[in-house]
Parts: sequence; structure tokens; C-alpha cells
Amino acid sequence: MKAHALSLGFDSVGVCAATEPPHYAAYERWIRAGGHSTMEYLARHLPQKRRPDELLPGAKSVIAVTLGYNRPNPRIPGRPRIARYALGRDYHKVMRGKLRKLGRWLDELHPESRSRACVDSAPILERDFAQLAGLGWYGKNTMLIDSKRGSWFFIGLLLTTAELEIDQPATGGCGTCMRCVEACPTGAIAFRDDRWQVIADQCISYLTIEHRGEIDASLQPKIGEWTFGCDVCQEVCPFNQPRESQPMRGRVTAVPDFITSREWPDLQALAQIEPDRWDRLTAGSAVRRAPLGQLRRNAAINLRNSSQS
Ligand code: SF4
Ligand code: SF4
Repeated sequence: MKAHALSLGFDSVGVCAATEPPHYAAYERWIRAGGHSTMEYLARHLPQKRRPDELLPGAKSVIAVTLGYNRPNPRIPGRPRIARYALGRDYHKVMRGKLRKLGRWLDELHPESRSRACVDSAPILERDFAQLAGLGWYGKNTMLIDSKRGSWFFIGLLLTTAELEIDQPATGGCGTCMRCVEACPTGAIAFRDDRWQVIADQCISYLTIEHRGEIDASLQPKIGEWTFGCDVCQEVCPFNQPRESQPMRGRVTAVPDFITSREWPDLQALAQIEPDRWDRLTAGSAVRRAPLGQLRRNAAINLRNSSQS
């Protein structure tokens, strides 16, 4: 199975049992404490998040896969700055297509089995299962980190009713490193409830992608040049820096869909973009998650920040 998954282009693959994810209780506490801020969708479908067999009745195993998306993302004055994961084609489509191929192959191999692909849109704690399946451990920035590859990757899961051989959970840790905590422009990475967390309503990714309406005036200057998302806590992470002994860290993706580029208008134009141009510009892109007014708002903040720097 693993060899076939890798032949489909995944960078890593592992298997774990379809049990309650280890951080479910902490996740529920976080929701009850309002940690998800305005992201109401995160508070839905808690039973499915607790039990994967609510998503696929009879689920026995979870196949976790990763797909790297890293690519150079130089700063260009006057241009929007977009997080690397959103520069290419919408990852949901790319990942789902590959996972479904894997599912069809698996269902042929185990004719009595059924499978379900989950890519960010199904209510399931992806990172927990990927950690259980051996693909990475949690960094202080809450990203899953593969000691050999770093953290520039998407996670996909395939639930299956087939009982597969399971892998050992990934182990590792940040040690005394505090680079992301210190580099975060808004101080959003904090130790709370006995673990490192990203405080959603202080995080630039949340503010530029999920937060509707005005952004608190005290946070706007800290958003700096980021128009959609923020990569600072990954850019500074030592596990993402190439090293002779770790050649896969920081490697540029081989997935053609993630390398494609679209011509983004400059910030002046983006701050006034019209609906039809926004529609054409964001078609097939993860940037479409930010509605028109929000992208305009972000570009206007970037312009103000650049004029003040
Ligand atoms: S994405 Fe940016 S703002 Fe959010 S935690 Fe990381 S560095 Fe901080
Ligand atoms: S920058 Fe350092 S503390 Fe942050 S996730 Fe990477 S290793 Fe961990």
C-alpha cells in the first residue's frame, strides 16, 4: 500500500488505528473556552471529530499522507504577500484527487472494504492522526514537523474499513528552541492549558483569512506585508532550513499544481479590485476563502503599513 501511495506522488505515508484522537479532549476544552474565535464551523460535528467511525461507519484504519508545497516566496515591494500553501492550485482539489485514487486501489485490494478521503473539509483532527501514523510531531507553532522534511506540507487522510498494519507514532520535539515564539509578529504563540497554542484571534493567518469585518487597530500594523496568511513561524523554524545532512528540509515541491503561478495585481489594484476580476483571479485558488471585501481590506492594511515603514 505504501509503495503505491508514494507512486501517486505523496511524500510520506503512514497508518494508524481509527480511534479517538489523542488531543480530542484538549480540542473540546479549547472550543468550550472560545479559542476558535469567530470560526464557528470548528465547533460543529464534535461527535465525528471524536470518533472517526462516525464519518465512515466501520472505519478501522486511517492512512495519513503528506504532500509538500514549499516553493520560493520572495518579498516584492508593492505586491501582495501570500502564504506559500496558497500560491499554487487549491490543495483540496490536488490532494483529494490523489487520495481518491488511493482509495479505489485499496478497495480493489480489499473488495469488502470502503474508504473515505478527508482533506481539511471533513470534521476530523488531521494532525493528530498524522502524528499517530508517524508522519510528524507537534512544534510550538502547532505545525506538524517531520524531522527529515520540516513542516511545509499538506496532510490528507483516507479512512478505511480495512484493518491495516499500523505504524509507530512520531516522536520529536523543539527542545529549547523558541524561534517561532519570538518571531511571531503578533505574539500569537503562547503556552496555555499545558501546551503550546496559536491564539487564533491574534494570528495573522486567522485575521487575514477567517476574520470578517474590521481588524483591531492595534493589530493592523503587525500584519505588515501579509495579504493572505502568514508563514513567519515556519520560515524561521530550523527544521525547514536545508542542511547537508538533511537534504529534504526546505526542498521545493515536485507537484506541478503547487508550482504554478498566477499574476496577482499590485496592492493598489487589489485594494480596489472589482467582483468579476476577483472571481477570475481566485478561481481554483485557496485564496478564494477570503471574500472580495476582505482581500481589499487586507491590501489596504498592507499599503498603510508599507507607507509607514
Ligand atoms: S502564522 Fe504568523 S501570526 Fe500566526 S502564529 Fe505563525 S507567525 Fe504568528
Ligand atoms: S521554530 Fe523552534 S520552537 Fe518553533 S516549531 Fe520550529 S523547532 Fe519548534
